[in-house]
Amino acid sequence: VTRGYASNFRASDLTIKPRTSPPRVKSPKEQLAFGKEFSDSMLTIDWTREGGWGIPVIEEFGDLAISPAATGLHYGIQCFEGMKCYFSPSDDSLRLFRPDLNMARMNSSMQRLAMPGFDGGEMIELLKKFCEVEKEWVPKGAGYSLYLRPTAIGTHPFLGVDVSDHVKLFVIASPVGPYYPTGFKPVSLFADSTNKRAWPGGVGSFKVGGNYGPTILPAKEAMEKGFNQILWMFGDDDEVTECGAMNLFFVVQEGDKKVLWTAPLSRGDILPGVTRKSIIDLCESWDGIEVRESFPKMPEIKKASQEGRLLEAFGAGTAAVVSPIERINYNGYDINIPATGELTSKVWDELNGIYYGDIEGPEGWSV
Ligand code: PMP
Repeated sequence: VTRGYASNFRASDLTIKPRTSPPRVKSPKEQLAFGKEFSDSMLTIDWTREGGWGIPVIEEFGDLAISPAATGLHYGIQCFEGMKCYFSPSDDSLRLFRPDLNMARMNSSMQRLAMPGFDGGEMIELLKKFCEVEKEWVPKGAGYSLYLRPTAIGTHPFLGVDVSDHVKLFVIASPVGPYYPTGFKPVSLFADSTNKRAWPGGVGSFKVGGNYGPTILPAKEAMEKGFNQILWMFGDDDEVTECGAMNLFFVVQEGDKKVLWTAPLSRGDILPGVTRKSIIDLCESWDGIEVRESFPKMPEIKKASQEGRLLEAFGAGTAAVVSPIERINYNGYDINIPATGELTSKVWDELNGIYYGDIEGPEGWSV
């Protein structure tokens, strides 16, 4: 057996361990800060090369016991997902948004790190059961949700730079509030010509922890210069790739056309965002907007702005949904972008409507 990937875990094998400690105290929802508070339980599934996937278990949230030699602690054999569970007041249901896309991305991240694959459909069933168990932790109201963090780490106690023979897949959950409690707060970006997030032939299209640690210092430096996030560029002609940990969209006027412009996935240096794909899918079905997937170059964006054709810019991701951009500093020049535009607001309304079940989105999006 070269890879013990054949065996899959099954949602029907789920074991729910009884709690021994009392439920944790929940903060009032108005006080929730992203990722600081966790629900009572976690879902864990172990894999070994000899035995394949073990039985899925929901157990009390708590510290993991792993060897200090675990591969995940040394060589970045680690990847994760970010998704949300929403409470829908229209039918008192809990909803996930396009979880199949998160499962596909997690499988691709795991396989890039030579970890085993898994059956995304079984994992979605487990996520549903996990959310049901943790339903008291799903805060209600517009902008509130239970953020889910599926994660896989190499747990093999082996210092060889090699395939991890032991893997732990786990899901933890954190109740979160609206990213913009008082309405949109547009962000400013520093177009960084020194630091690169990803490159052709690299791993930018995978959600591996190794892509994030190295961004923290440049992001901190950009914040110290007075910007909220970095605009990541690549290449001699300053192609725009992403911003912060979001995909980036521009809306430009070209003649009598409005174009929604974002970097393509084809080169492998863009994270295939679920929000990105959903915005593209929606806009392709709307009149009056043309979707373009090609690398915008910063000089082109600057020129469009100078000609009054840069109508809107926004970041897109699960955490903030859409984040309007008001300013981009490029080589010392400030590109100012009009306040939250029409398309940004339309996308925001449509996606939130679908997340919370107020709008019936395309088939299979709201689960
Ligand atoms: N780009 C990067 C680098 C990210 O980390 C994320 C967050 N996962 C995104 C884009 C947006 O992806 P999604 O819409 O799936 O949250």
